[in-house]
Amino acid sequence: MYSLLHCHFESALRAIALVRSRKVSHLETVVASPFYDRVSPADRLYLLWNTVQGLTDGEDLFTEEVFRSVVRRFLDEMTASHVEHVDLRIGPIMRRWAWMRSAADGLDVFRDELAQHDGLSVSFLAGVDLTRSQDRLDRIIDVLTTDGDVAGRLAGIDINLLPGDLPKFDRYLPALRALQGDGLKINMHLGELFDNAVSRYLLDRLTPDRIGHGVLLLEDPSLVDLVREHGICLDMCPTSNTTLGVVNWHRTSPARRALELGIPVSINTDDPMLFNTDLDRELRLSGLNDTELDQVVAYGRKHRYDAM
Ligand SMILES: [Zn+2]
Repeated sequence: MYSLLHCHFESALRAIALVRSRKVSHLETVVASPFYDRVSPADRLYLLWNTVQGLTDGEDLFTEEVFRSVVRRFLDEMTASHVEHVDLRIGPIMRRWAWMRSAADGLDVFRDELAQHDGLSVSFLAGVDLTRSQDRLDRIIDVLTTDGDVAGRLAGIDINLLPGDLPKFDRYLPALRALQGDGLKINMHLGELFDNAVSRYLLDRLTPDRIGHGVLLLEDPSLVDLVREHGICLDMCPTSNTTLGVVNWHRTSPARRALELGIPVSINTDDPMLFNTDLDRELRLSGLNDTELDQVVAYGRKHRYDAM
C-alpha cells in the first residue's frame, strides 16, 4: 500500500473531466503543438494551466453534487491504485465553488466520503501559489492565520513560485515562518522550474519539511548535503517532469540517484488530470526495482503527514 505525498486536487479540472469529458482532450492538443515543444518547462506549465482556465471559464457546473461526485471518484481512484494515505493539495480560498462558504465545506464533503473508504486517510495541504496576485495571497494568508475552522484541519501548506516571485516570497516569509512555528508542515516546489541559485535562496530562508520534485537539486553537492542533513523527502513526479521537459524519466531515474545518495524519496502523480496519469504509471516510469520501491513505500509512511 502506497502513500501519495505530492498530488494536486485540481477540483475544477476534475469537474470538467466528469461532466464535460470531451473538453479535457484539449490538453493533449496543447502538448502536441509545435509551440509547446519550443518553450521552457515553466512556460509549458503556464500554457497547460491557461488551457484549464479556458476550459472552466463560463461553466456553471460547480455545484455541491458535482463536487461530491468529484471527491468520490478521486477516493475511488486512490483505492484502485492501492493508496492508503494521500497528502492532498487543495485551494484554501473559494473561487468557482460558490456554494462553499469556506474551504471547510469542501473538507466536510471529504470527511463524509472518506467514511465510505476504509483503510484510506487524507491530509490536506493548502496551496500557496506565489505566482498569484498579492490580493489573492493576502486572502490566503488571512484564512491560514485567522480561520481556525479551515486552518485547524490542515496538516500544512504547499508553496510554489517562479523566480520573478521572490519579492513576494520575501514579503510573506515572516507569515510562512509563523505558520511553521505554529505546527503547520511546509512543502515547497523546488529543483524543477528554476535553477539551483533560486532554490538555494529559498532554502537559506525557509527549511521545508518536504520538497516537491527536487530533481535538479541532485546536481549540486552542497544542496544534496543540505537536503540530507535535514532529512527532507523529495516528492518526485516522473510524468510531470517528462511532459514539462524538466527531466526525461525514460532515460534516467532521479529517484534512484537520490536513493543512492541516501535521500528520502516518494513517487507521485503531481497534477494527475493535467498530466493524464495515475500512480501505477508513475511507479513504472520511476525505473525503480522492487527493493527500491520498498524503500519508497517506507519513506512514504515515514514522511507523510498525520490526517486531521
Ligand atoms: Zn506539484
